[in-house]
Amino acid sequence: MIAFLCLMLGIIAFTRPTTQTISDDVSYQHLGSFAYSAIAPQGVYDTNTIQSGEPIFPALTCSINIKFKYTLAAEALENISGTYQLTALLANPQSGWQRTIPLQEQAAFTGNGFDTQAKLDLCAVEKLVESFEQITTLHPSYYLLSINPQVHVTGLIADRTLDSTFEPNLAFQYDRTQFYLVAQSQGANPLIPGEAKTLHEETQVPNTFSLFGLQLKVPILRTIAVIGLVLSLSGLAILGLQLEYIARNDRETFIRMKYDPLVIDVEETGLHDNMQLIEVNSIDDLAKLAENHNEMILHGSKADIEHYLVHVNGVAYVYSQGRQHLAVMTEALDDFRTEFIHGLDNNEFNVYYQPIVSLENGRITAVEALVRWQHPQRGFISAGEFIQAAESTGFIGKLDEWVMLNACTQLKRWQDAGFDLKVAVNLSAYYLEHEPAESVQRILHTTDVDPSRLQLEIPEALVTEFTPGVLRQLQKLKEMGISLTLDDFNGEIALSSISQMPITSLKMDRLLVKKINNPAELVKIQQLIAVAASLGLSVVGKGVETNEEKVFLTESGSQAQGYLLGRPVAANETADLLRLNAQITDSAAPKMKPEK
Ligand code: C2E
Ligand code: MG
Repeated sequence: MIAFLCLMLGIIAFTRPTTQTISDDVSYQHLGSFAYSAIAPQGVYDTNTIQSGEPIFPALTCSINIKFKYTLAAEALENISGTYQLTALLANPQSGWQRTIPLQEQAAFTGNGFDTQAKLDLCAVEKLVESFEQITTLHPSYYLLSINPQVHVTGLIADRTLDSTFEPNLAFQYDRTQFYLVAQSQGANPLIPGEAKTLHEETQVPNTFSLFGLQLKVPILRTIAVIGLVLSLSGLAILGLQLEYIARNDRETFIRMKYDPLVIDVEETGLHDNMQLIEVNSIDDLAKLAENHNEMILHGSKADIEHYLVHVNGVAYVYSQGRQHLAVMTEALDDFRTEFIHGLDNNEFNVYYQPIVSLENGRITAVEALVRWQHPQRGFISAGEFIQAAESTGFIGKLDEWVMLNACTQLKRWQDAGFDLKVAVNLSAYYLEHEPAESVQRILHTTDVDPSRLQLEIPEALVTEFTPGVLRQLQKLKEMGISLTLDDFNGEIALSSISQMPITSLKMDRLLVKKINNPAELVKIQQLIAVAASLGLSVVGKGVETNEEKVFLTESGSQAQGYLLGRPVAANETADLLRLNAQITDSAAPKMKPEK
């Protein structure tokens, strides 16, 4: 969960830029103020001074005094200075004629403003107009006279560099009689010009993201996401390693952790003598069964054996785990190594054989070789209980070879005694990956067994991991005439993909055979067997324990193996069984030689 959150946070943080651009504008204003005045003859105006805003008649006065005040308005002004100059411009808009009349020299100022004034001789302006009209013979209806201050200001505003100009104008229209102020288009007062400006600046700041109401910077979020992801993944890895450790060393705790909601501890598991009991090979299979039938797994322990049990339709499915034994096997693999080598040297291992029967005529067509360990301290141990340890310690290859040599030697004896049968031997992943064709050929040669008499069983779980090298080896074995059986077939692998492999028959898993009792599953199994037959694959049902299962397999033309037809027994008992089977199924049974 935390890893997922950190991953999402990482995606958000790494898909956003680390910085963002924000505009940081500073405003300022150029403010101007014009004023003009002139001496007026007595009795024409209210006073003897012409004031700003009033028309001026050159016939009455020639000289007007023009004042201009400038202020730079802004906050945080620093080092402000500049220059200014007042000029006048006489122009005729109709013809485009214009003349500049300097009113003062350019002057400098410091601080955020200045006051200045200059004199303008209107009689001189009048003369310029007359001379223009005389030369051009034009007589326009009016002229424009504007007063133009040119202000250039520099300095700093809020630490930003200022370099700006301000050029307002005060315009008079002259109709050859009087100069009067021209109104501004937006109704603004022409005597108080102004201009608002901004200093535009963009700055890069860290980008932020809002998380639980906190504004976090994206670079910090990236760091949090990476650290969080690394920590949570490490946590998961440690948890995984711990689980693996528990799975290996404490099966009971592991089952608890994995299937806790399904498991309940009971004093009494509800088993009674008349009840049909089916052993299940793994807790995962039992859990699947419980989930499919909406049942709980009942857990009880007796004499150091842990029982996990599921009741379905009056049948009890049981998975048992010998606590002491398993602990020894898994916790002390080193001990296992020593015990294993000792066991081989002391002939503690033995091969048992379980019949595989053709249901059509009841004949035993083959026997499966199953290894057993007569352990000096722990007693009789079935293969299912130590094969995993043999795999973990790497002894499995040696064991497979030993079992095959024994099984082939035994088969040769039975053949010599007149029995017509095959022997099936289980192979491990290790054996398959280490040039099995060469080893099998050597054993067949040593024991003088025909390859067509040997069936090799390959667990279905290995099929998906077959490398091209293993497939080549299997092909070689098939070409030698050896039958290759896919063991533990549970119907989940597509038959079309199996038919592409060098496989000659399928051995149905015990749990698949159990599904025969369920009418819905029965149809599926019938279809599977029909498809397998159409692909040229013969089918064996294993773990057959009930008559219903046997009847079904008989009708579908399959072979069968299971406690109902014969438990795994030692070679001498198998010989008795073969003899009996031959007598029952074949009145013309060959004359048996006594077993050595
Ligand atoms: P498998 O090849 O599926 O062998 C059948 C297992 O089911 C045997 O257990 C057998 O005793 C048991 N079984 C047979 N009929 C019935 C039945 O009707 N009901 C029940 N409940 N069980 C039945 P075992 O001998 O303990 O062998 C377990 C597994 O160990 C075998 O499964 C096989 O995969 C492996 N194994 C046995 N011997 C060898 C060997 O020499 N080499 C390798 N690599 N694996 C072996
Ligand atoms: Mg097998």
